Amino acid sequence: MLGLSQAELAEKIVALGGNMYQQTIAKLESEQRALRMSEADIIATALGTTVADMLRHRSVAIGRASAPSLDEVRRELMAVEADLSQATLRSRQAAAELERARQLVAMSQAESDRAQAVFSELSRQYQDLQGRLAAAVHNERGPTLSGSGGKSVLKELPRSGRDVVEDHLRNCEDCQAKQRRLSQE
Ligand SMILES: [Zn+2]
Repeated sequence: MLGLSQAELAEKIVALGGNMYQQTIAKLESEQRALRMSEADIIATALGTTVADMLRHRSVAIGRASAPSLDEVRRELMAVEADLSQATLRSRQAAAELERARQLVAMSQAESDRAQAVFSELSRQYQDLQGRLAAAVHNERGPTLSGSGGKSVLKELPRSGRDVVEDHLRNCEDCQAKQRRLSQE
């Protein structure tokens, strides 16, 4: 294993406080016996590597006394390249998703701004209409508007319009005087 003889590896394991016979190592190398999880860590330490690294380089770390062949290295390189291109792809996809999310945020911001502008404009028009309605009431004949005679314009108004008219009639002395005058005639 990695330049160590089975005996040397067994000695190293003992030196590290573990316990493994050379025969066990021989069985592990010839795959006659499976490696236990509890043994993996101390073997990795004795070999100057880690379990994670051993798993990555399984074909060269276990069961092989010789250096990795060109073919093994090539296969490993291809695997790493495949992982890398996967990661690159995922990273690009994530970037594209982030960009889409940014655009959505910008779009909803613009949408919200437009809605706000429409709301402001409608509010302005609404206040303008209320003012014009109050002015029209003031200039009109009281009875038709208040509904005491003839066709009532009031009833044709939406609730908010009627509120404006009633408000005006309640608070405008001129209109009240005009109504009193008309009701006396
Ligand atoms: Zn008035």
